[in-house]
Amino acid sequence: MASLVLIPVGLVSTVLAWRLSRDGRLASRYRVVWQMLAAGLLLAAVGDVWSIGLATSRGRDLAITAADAPYLLSYLVIIAATLCLIEGRPSRGEVVTLTLDASMVAVGGGLVIWHTVIVPAYRAVPADALSRLVSLAYPVGDLLLLTGLAVVLLRCQDDARRRVLLLLAGSLGAMLFGNLLWIYEYTERGWLVESARDVCFLTHYALFIASVEVERRQLGREAEDVRTPLVPMALLPYAAVIGGYALLLSVAWRGADEHTFQLTLGALILTMLVTARQIVALRENVALQRERVVMSGEARFRSLVQHASDVVSIVDVHGVASFVSPSATATLGYTPETIVGTSILALLHPDDAVDAGRRLEDVVSTGRSATGRWRMQRKDGTWIQTDSICTNLMSDENVRGLVLTTRDISERCALEAQLLHQAFHDPLTGLANRALFLDRVRHALARRQHGSDGLGILFIDLDQFKTVNDSLGHQVGDLLLRGVADRLASGLRCFDTIARLGGDEFAVLIDDAEGDDGVMVIADRVGQALRDPFLLEGREVVTLASIGVALVHADQSAEDLLRNADLAMYLAKNRGGGQTALFEPEMHAAMLNRLELQADLRRALEREEFSLVYQPVHALETQALVGVEALLRWAHPTRGSVPPGVFIPIAEQTGLIVPIGKWVIEQACRDAREWRNQLGEIAPQSVAVNISGRQIPEPALFDDIQAALARAELPPSALVLELTESILLTHTDQTLSVMHRLKDIGVGLALDDFGTGYSSLSYLQRLPIDVLKIDRAFVERLETDASASALTRAIVGLGKTLSLRTVAEGVENRTQADLLQHLGCDHGQGFLYGMPMPTRELQRYARRVRKFVAA
Ligand code: C2E
Ligand code: CA
Ligand code: CA
Repeated sequence: MASLVLIPVGLVSTVLAWRLSRDGRLASRYRVVWQMLAAGLLLAAVGDVWSIGLATSRGRDLAITAADAPYLLSYLVIIAATLCLIEGRPSRGEVVTLTLDASMVAVGGGLVIWHTVIVPAYRAVPADALSRLVSLAYPVGDLLLLTGLAVVLLRCQDDARRRVLLLLAGSLGAMLFGNLLWIYEYTERGWLVESARDVCFLTHYALFIASVEVERRQLGREAEDVRTPLVPMALLPYAAVIGGYALLLSVAWRGADEHTFQLTLGALILTMLVTARQIVALRENVALQRERVVMSGEARFRSLVQHASDVVSIVDVHGVASFVSPSATATLGYTPETIVGTSILALLHPDDAVDAGRRLEDVVSTGRSATGRWRMQRKDGTWIQTDSICTNLMSDENVRGLVLTTRDISERCALEAQLLHQAFHDPLTGLANRALFLDRVRHALARRQHGSDGLGILFIDLDQFKTVNDSLGHQVGDLLLRGVADRLASGLRCFDTIARLGGDEFAVLIDDAEGDDGVMVIADRVGQALRDPFLLEGREVVTLASIGVALVHADQSAEDLLRNADLAMYLAKNRGGGQTALFEPEMHAAMLNRLELQADLRRALEREEFSLVYQPVHALETQALVGVEALLRWAHPTRGSVPPGVFIPIAEQTGLIVPIGKWVIEQACRDAREWRNQLGEIAPQSVAVNISGRQIPEPALFDDIQAALARAELPPSALVLELTESILLTHTDQTLSVMHRLKDIGVGLALDDFGTGYSSLSYLQRLPIDVLKIDRAFVERLETDASASALTRAIVGLGKTLSLRTVAEGVENRTQADLLQHLGCDHGQGFLYGMPMPTRELQRYARRVRKFVAA
């Protein structure tokens, strides 16, 4: 019998639930649930009223009454409402776990209900079928409700709902317990539990009202995600298992009864369910783990694409983009949204778009990836250089397109260009360097079909660069080089390649001039342009340039051509500088010969291949032998005797003349000492040694001469140094001081080849010389040319005025000797008296001459 108090409470609950179900803000699904619950409660209340009314007819047994109808109906409606509360559509895996969990609850709970309620109730009810069925319907309904509640709680996904559901579950749980107590009440210890049962039902209504209230308050609020899994709910099935086992234990404890077998069977089923549940949980865990790995991989991949500096896009064969990564904004200035749907090709340079389009087609047809280097235009109009890789992922269901990865390589390209420029240009002048120059020459040669017509190379070398560098400093030297570069650039056509090969060497490639003459015209123009003084740091600097020109002949390499121009330049320089020389094929052989001699000359001193010959000098009046001139001979091991006119210039250019000249002085002094010892007073008084201009600036020259004289125990007056006029022009101050010092100790000084050089009377006066050597050219023409004899007379007169001895060179016959004597010349030297001869022969000669003169 239901307590009276429960009826109003039940009605209030019903009204509240009904009102809530009318609220429009509630989801329609929940409105139905609340309506059903309201209906269920109403039916229960009807049942209560009915049962109270029937109280007298319903004794202490479980005979069915009319009140059972609304009660059972209430059960059905509430169970249905509970099932409606199960949320969401479970996946297949969830169905399995849910089934297992529900089964555990059902079996565990079922065992308890069966043993504590069903079995006693079954015994207590009247034996008619309907009574038994109805009385069994209650515990079975309870079990269904229990299982349904468990499922509802296990599936709850929403924190906000969960509160309502928990209250509702508590409410229904309390009702369930109350119902069980009710059945129990009639079976075993009857009325003792009546008040406890009422407490259960009151709790049931209280919690129900609370759940209605919570649901009402929550209306209109956003759903919250479950943040924490509801551990107690997950444990629900296990609680049922524990209940089942606890029952088995308690029965066993009291000593086995007739249900021990059924209970043990139930426990076994529970154990199997738990095991199955564990296996499922294990598999779920593994799958979860795997999913987590995949998800983290995907997340990583996504963030890579999102944050990569490369622009990753998915395009079709026409370049139309379906996806563009966010980096497009930074790289191209366009947001991905503006690009998607348009063709990437439209952003490319028109020249590159064709190539890019072709490549996309290739990628589609071959399935292979392709790369391309294309220019792309940014939104601001500027161009960037890009490197792109296109991969075909048409068959990948996640992509279904061509993946185009584009990288901005503008900076790298700029750096490459800069490095390339550095590799091929002279940093000082910005002109091409040798490598680039040769490359251009190669190309020009390749373009040319035949003939040289208008293709040539100028090799330019500054004549006074070293002087400028040494005297004005490197800074001015650099300025001069830059100035030369500028002048070359302004004087030539823009398509002529100008290069600095190193130091003060420049080269110009002239292509397409008007024939070979045209090349020469340009060469002369360049020479002329460089002739004007340069204004460097407020100073006027003049530098002439020697220019060698090489024209293309037959098959020539670029290197050959450059070397030929170099040779011609060398020739121009040898001719005195400031000139232009055209390369002739013979020059090459001459050059090789020269290089060979140069190498041999280096070893000649130590191999003792040099020797001195002496040519006698006679007094024209008395015929007496007054001196000799030492002349150098080189006995080359294979070429035989090499004329001094050939090797002396080489020795001078290479600087080898310095050690060679020193040897000559020493040897001449040694020989002079020998004659004096052998011939006594008939020995030649002086020995003349030729001194090269290169020897004069040598600081050791003076000491070397002094030492040679001292070693040979010769008086300085026994030595005469022959210098040419030309050396006086270039080293005036220093030369003068050296000459003065030599003069001071008594060494004789002669001006060689007088009359051929830049004769200037003013410097003649300043020079501390004793002897003028009249060049052979005058003597040669003395008999035939009146002007020559007039000049010779003037030279002799000049010598007399300045108190200088005059020596005529190249006297070959008596007539010349007589004429010279007549003009007043002091001495003569030449074939008339004797050829240059070795020292032993000279001794014999001296003896012979002595007799001859004496006779
Ligand atoms: P140089 O000083 O004018 O020497 C005189 C040259 O005239 C010598 O030629 C000599 O053999 C030549 N000669 C002498 N008499 C006659 C003649 O009657 N008719 C003709 N046609 N020639 C005559 P060489 O020995 O071939 O020397 C040539 C030049 O080599 C010399 O000219 C001199 O400038 C240079 N040289 C020779 N030996 C030395 C040396 O030891 N040191 C330096 N620095 N230069 C030297
Ligand atoms: Ca000489
Ligand atoms: Ca001479």
